[in-house]
Amino acid sequence: MKISDLIITPLAFADPPLLNSTGVHEPLALRTVVQLVVDGGLVGLGEGSGEREVLDRLELVRAAIIGQSVFDTSAIELIVAAVLGPDVTPLQKRAVFSIIEVACLDAQGKLLGVPVVDLLGGAVRSEVPYSGYLFYKWAGHPDAVADGWGEALDPAGIIDQARRMIDLHGFRSLKLKGGVFPPDEEIAAMRALAGAFPGMPLRIDPNGAWSVETSKYVARELAGVLEYLEDPTLTTAAMAEVAAVASMPLATNMCVISPETVPEAVRLNAVQIVLSDHHYWGGLRHTRELGAICDTFGLGMSMHSNSHLGISLAAMTHVAAATPNLAYACDTHYPWNSLDDVVTTPFEFVDGALAVPAGPGLGVGLNEAKLAELSRRYVESGRTTRADTAYMRLVDPAYDPTLPRF
Ligand SMILES: [Mg+2]
Repeated sequence: MKISDLIITPLAFADPPLLNSTGVHEPLALRTVVQLVVDGGLVGLGEGSGEREVLDRLELVRAAIIGQSVFDTSAIELIVAAVLGPDVTPLQKRAVFSIIEVACLDAQGKLLGVPVVDLLGGAVRSEVPYSGYLFYKWAGHPDAVADGWGEALDPAGIIDQARRMIDLHGFRSLKLKGGVFPPDEEIAAMRALAGAFPGMPLRIDPNGAWSVETSKYVARELAGVLEYLEDPTLTTAAMAEVAAVASMPLATNMCVISPETVPEAVRLNAVQIVLSDHHYWGGLRHTRELGAICDTFGLGMSMHSNSHLGISLAAMTHVAAATPNLAYACDTHYPWNSLDDVVTTPFEFVDGALAVPAGPGLGVGLNEAKLAELSRRYVESGRTTRADTAYMRLVDPAYDPTLPRF
């Protein structure tokens, strides 16, 4: 069954003003949806980054994959690498291939009448737990009305947000995006969460915003509070210094981001948990392989998220269900963005988890009207890249995202 077309559609969807160490989320987040058409008109769906460079690379490989069998994903991966050439890094190639691979697997599943999880070895769990992803945030975007989530700039605001997340979605673990305020304020927020939700697994992720010394201080202060500490500081060597004294496991989606980055992290015992992300690791089958790598080296496994829609969430759920040692609740931004989804039936969490979609392929349909609306919004926005720092500087012209911030 051959690929006859690849329709590439960049989208812009509403995003609240979520704060992080680089700045703040803009009113629109960018994403790309692909429709991979096979002979006979059947369509496989894929989703990934909306950055202009990713779109350009998808356009470059489009002609080369037309005519390939939709089942030959290994050959397609080689074609993607060859077309993009030596100036494009392996990581950048994987970001492109992952979108196509998911679309191929969706099409394969539809052709065979089986869910994608069955193409990955079958489900080892029938539902996938996700963690409630908390953010410091403004009440609304500048010059816009407040959004329904309200302001969260202190421990009380974070508690309110956590309570709302749990009431709406039933999450059974919580993660705070940190690196925004001085560490003592974020330590206070984590302690407040531990007090308000006794026994709830808690994580904080400042995206490398802390120095080694600050990271060690936070690790000491939050001993007994955290399930894991994610990317407190940049570089594998610096993470190893922190890991040597931290009582809790260190997790990462910043220093272990590809097969090439695993050996040094293992040699230095820099991290104990790797956050997978099929968008970075080259698709769902390579994410399964990451599971084997983590098994080999005794590393735990969780899952990273960027702002995304339901096609990615379906893919994340299928691969998490098929990966035995992906035992930590996965991250997802979905509750922040689900009102603008392009799938026909948006996902609903039950007790903080998603059932693995049962339909053939990814098990999601495409809302063509919504796709067209978000595509128009992309064009009208004139945006081609994410710019959290520039957006923050509209409000705080002196904002400095240089790491470590603290
Ligand atoms: Mg992270």
